[in-house]
Amino acid sequence: IIRIDNIVKRYGPLTVLDGLSMEVMPGEKLALIGPSGSGKTTILRILMTLETISEGFIQIDGEQLYHMKKAGSLVPADERHLHRMREKIGMVFQHFNLFPHKCVLDNITLAPMLTKGMDRAAAEKRGMELLDMVGLADKAKSMPAQLSGGQKQRVAIARALALSPKIMLFDEVTSALDPELVEEVLSVMRKLAAETDMTMLLVTHEMGFAHDFADRVLFFDRGKIVEEGKPGDIFRHPKQERTQIFLRKII
Ligand code: ATP
Repeated sequence: IIRIDNIVKRYGPLTVLDGLSMEVMPGEKLALIGPSGSGKTTILRILMTLETISEGFIQIDGEQLYHMKKAGSLVPADERHLHRMREKIGMVFQHFNLFPHKCVLDNITLAPMLTKGMDRAAAEKRGMELLDMVGLADKAKSMPAQLSGGQKQRVAIARALALSPKIMLFDEVTSALDPELVEEVLSVMRKLAAETDMTMLLVTHEMGFAHDFADRVLFFDRGKIVEEGKPGDIFRHPKQERTQIFLRKII
């Protein structure tokens, strides 16, 4: 469902992704792990079209994100096309990014009403189903500031699901949370993985969760995938020295 070929991402003189290639199959659950600054967040942001690339090729659900111009430079696909692609992908961020002046239910219904032209009644019905799924139906009329971090993150997950994406991206969604709130968010993600056939990409420092959740783990270092494999193999028998050093430090 995702094909990334030889992409390069630079910020000025800094090369953040250095000829990265990867493929994701429909329904696959992937965990992206690796040291800070290795480019994991950047790859999610590129898929979400929040960042452009300098070189390479990306295909999502059969459609290309960039086109090669005659002069050899890359240009993003046209806006209509990008808009359609964005609807296929939901993203959940480390810092929730809820609209602070909207109640929980409005946070969820806004995008379907604006971008899909859903009427309010249908959007609210779907919104309440999603809130029920994340265990927050009773908070529909609360404001984000009245919620705990774990609750905010569960609302953010419900919001990302409201456009019925085929692909969900999770960027360190528990790392801003107090330890006792982490589990409630992880359990929503476990439920999603078990009950839907969505493709899920997860950047995480929670190795225990990555182990249980992922079909495949990708280890990033300095803008490249250094090693990939089944969680059991990567965590118990990493082959590359860089993976071994990283895992030894954090487990
Ligand atoms: P972390 O686990 O800390 O989030 P990461 O693997 O997700 O790390 P990225 O956030 O993808 O790493 O960042 C990769 C590199 O790109 C870092 O060196 C970072 O400083 C740099 N970087 C990210 N965004 C920008 C930006 N907008 N301008 C310049 N440099 C950036």
